[in-house]
Amino acid sequence: MAYPRNDNPLEELILEIREQQALQSQAYKTIELNRTHLAIRSDCQKVIEQTSKKIRELKLGSNISPREYDVYMGELETKLAIYELHNPAPQKPQPCAHNITEWRLRYNRDSSTRVVEQCLSCGRNLRDRRKADSPGWEHYPIFDKSIQRVEDNEYRVWCEKRGEVVSEHLRNNRTYANFNREEFVKEYTKTNPEPTYPEYCDHPQTELTLRKFSPSNLSVVEQCQVCGKHVRSIPKKTVLDINSLSAFDENLEEQTRNIWIQWNNRLHNASKKANLEKIEEIRRKISLGEVTDEDSSTFGTYYNTEEWSKTRDRILNRDEWQCQSCHKPAQCVHHIVYDRLGRENDLDLISLCHNCHDGVHAYQDTQMYGYRMTPSEIMHSRF
Ligand SMILES: [Zn+2]
Ligand SMILES: [Zn+2]
Ligand SMILES: [Zn+2]
Ligand SMILES: [Zn+2]
Repeated sequence: MAYPRNDNPLEELILEIREQQALQSQAYKTIELNRTHLAIRSDCQKVIEQTSKKIRELKLGSNISPREYDVYMGELETKLAIYELHNPAPQKPQPCAHNITEWRLRYNRDSSTRVVEQCLSCGRNLRDRRKADSPGWEHYPIFDKSIQRVEDNEYRVWCEKRGEVVSEHLRNNRTYANFNREEFVKEYTKTNPEPTYPEYCDHPQTELTLRKFSPSNLSVVEQCQVCGKHVRSIPKKTVLDINSLSAFDENLEEQTRNIWIQWNNRLHNASKKANLEKIEEIRRKISLGEVTDEDSSTFGTYYNTEEWSKTRDRILNRDEWQCQSCHKPAQCVHHIVYDRLGRENDLDLISLCHNCHDGVHAYQDTQMYGYRMTPSEIMHSRF
């Protein structure tokens, strides 16, 4: 077996998508060159909308179905899938056109008032106006906080409940969000270098000192000048003039330890804060209904899962561990498209050697954003 060379629906799909991407990229460039020309800009915006829609349709309409076996799903995604099964998503509401509005009087927290324009269909506070420009404002109707569109409310409630599934999961699995602590520590120590660690002393700077354990008990002690450790005791008779020695610094070791502990506490708090922010970010995304399947890899760590390693092995075995481009031994499994990340169809994946894999990505990077090489382009290129 090997990567299927003929009758591959991906081949055509990628070319069709590429055509749309080219039109879109042209439109972006034209906008860039005609920033002040409104008519041209709006034409280009239309092209961008149409091509995005077409790309979505092509992807959805393609006859490449997601694999149905061993689909990777994180624990949270499974919970969300179950929630959505029992609570189908309501139609996402169209933005309100704010057609009917009225100037109203709105109470501030401190019970002073201001004049605002309220949309009578969605209830939004659209803008403020100075009282001086609002004759008779004392008699304006009061801002009505209860106005909302049924569809907005339905969708908001659905999102909130779905968000609650996430919050509960995160409460019980605080580290779930894909927070890379190691990476964080690396960044943090760039600006906050780790001070001397007090526990293991192998510092080269030591000095002979006189240590007074009690008025009658004097010792000559080698003290580390970096961390303050008592390195070893020296027989008094080997030292010529013990009175010339400086006193052992009884505080240095504790100071070093305290400085390190304080640094470590700061690091711990900063890392906790960054982790919570990450969780918050995901929670926000979910409560807005913005989380899609494609987010699964940023969610969990797909490439570290048993699931990905099984998939990878299966593809390498299918391709007999041979680079499908140059036929040398393969080391990588490349995603031809990422659309089904986490639940790839086997057609989405191809085995390559490091050299060809680098070549594919280097070529794609020189092309427009989102450019993917087709299977036959990959197989027939020499990198
Ligand atoms: Zn409105
Ligand atoms: Zn030391
Ligand atoms: Zn190769
Ligand atoms: Zn790749």
